[in-house]
Amino acid sequence: MAAAGTGPGDAVRTRLWIGNEWVDAQLGITFPTVNPATGEVVADVAEARATDVDRAVQSARTAFADSRWRRMSPHKRSRLLWRLADLVDANADELALLETRDNGKPYFESRKIDVPSVALTLRYYAGLADKVQGDTLPVPGPFLNYTLREPVGVVGAIVPWNFPLSMAAWKAAPALACGNTVVLKPAEETPLTALRFGELAAEAGFPPGALNVVPGFGETAGAALVRHPSVDAISFTGSTETGRTVMREAAATLKKVSLELGGKSPNVVFADADLGQAVKGASTGVFYGKGEVCAAGSRILVEAAVHDQFVEGLATRAARTPVGDPMDPATRLGAIVSEAQLERVASYIDAGKREGARLVAGGERATVEGRGNFVNATVFSDVDPTMTIAREEIFGPVAAVIRFDGVEDAVAKANDTFYGLAAGVWTRDVGKAHRVAAEIDAGTVWINTYNQYAPASPFGGYKESGFGRDLGFQTALEKYTQLKSVWVALDR
Ligand code: NAD
Repeated sequence: MAAAGTGPGDAVRTRLWIGNEWVDAQLGITFPTVNPATGEVVADVAEARATDVDRAVQSARTAFADSRWRRMSPHKRSRLLWRLADLVDANADELALLETRDNGKPYFESRKIDVPSVALTLRYYAGLADKVQGDTLPVPGPFLNYTLREPVGVVGAIVPWNFPLSMAAWKAAPALACGNTVVLKPAEETPLTALRFGELAAEAGFPPGALNVVPGFGETAGAALVRHPSVDAISFTGSTETGRTVMREAAATLKKVSLELGGKSPNVVFADADLGQAVKGASTGVFYGKGEVCAAGSRILVEAAVHDQFVEGLATRAARTPVGDPMDPATRLGAIVSEAQLERVASYIDAGKREGARLVAGGERATVEGRGNFVNATVFSDVDPTMTIAREEIFGPVAAVIRFDGVEDAVAKANDTFYGLAAGVWTRDVGKAHRVAAEIDAGTVWINTYNQYAPASPFGGYKESGFGRDLGFQTALEKYTQLKSVWVALDR
């Protein structure tokens, strides 16, 4: 089914969103977006290529220069963001349905977690818009020196398919709050909520060009955005491999770049932890969002004394995790986003078996009425830190349990990775918890919990998990503004 995508009555918007208008791709090409739970085409979506990206960037550039945006009172910008949050709330059912059909995640996750978090993010940054300010600085001589915090300009936001609308909001909300304009490129697997989001922004009152949405593929639309000389900053979330390409390509025009990349996050369970809580936390830490979560706690490090008991608990939980129809309220593990990703996950499960890890739960595909990209929650124990499943990001519901002995071994094993996005620590010893949190190289550490996010708390990576932070207050200012120093002579 391919909807026209033109009017307010259509659930599925399928054209490019540029300058607050629906437009066709200049080459007239489209690509299908598929429901991974059924294999059915949800819609054929206009595919942006370089010329379309150029059109969107020109629109954003014009809007940036336009006094209606540039000189808009910050209070009004704040109100627009707040109004957009209200519209997200008012259209939450529709947005959640689109997200689930595109991504395959359970509807309850889209409706109860993702969409509300988008509204929360917008409201948080509505509060930032009127707090973008400089300082007066003590300088020698008869001078007044002060700083102005000014927007960077046109921001290219490139987001992945795992949290399509949340990632879009994590980038667009602070960028717009600071007075930038945005060209958003959603992932090719999940373009639908981003398009609706653009339309809602217009309804909220954002002027034409403030937020443009150009669905398309990475090597064409994404690359064109990164290379475009009129784009001032790229805010990217995706794989580490693509992050390297983005950084290389952005060097030609010396754009400001921030990269939120992959992870292989350790979740460290000490023998003195509340084991029931640790099993539960480790289970949601790796299986939430089908494991298609950059911060998934996919390396579960367990202290030898409780190893066997822990593995038994995790395997039991995994076996009881309901896999299936994302629209069924009982489902906790939806459909893997695409067939290609399913193949990838399956090949890692094969590697785990081949390299000698012990499969204690899952490990096989599942289907609903004979179709869909499903895989059961999978647990490997007796994993050696050198095995492929202990080193590479799988991006699927596959846990690798690794044994350790004592704090030093735990920290060494936790840090034995090129990644550094997140980590978990489970212990009742408060001193040990803080010591280990300080020693693990990761942008986020959760103690006796996992997968907590809030707009106020910065999120991003150490090491090859990238640099720059999404979310946060000061971090957003640093990312989406630049600082101007103004000198005034006072004696003439
Ligand atoms: P990906 O890198 O393939 O794609 C991400 C986005 O980049 C997509 O929109 C894609 O079209 C675009 N892209 C691809 N090639 C490009 C190029 N040459 N130039 C410009 N853009 C290009 O990643 P994915 O498979 O969609 O997402 C999964 C990855 O994202 C995982 O590695 C995951 O860990 C990471 N991720 C990180 C975070 C974080 O905050 N650190 C959050 C979510 C996902």
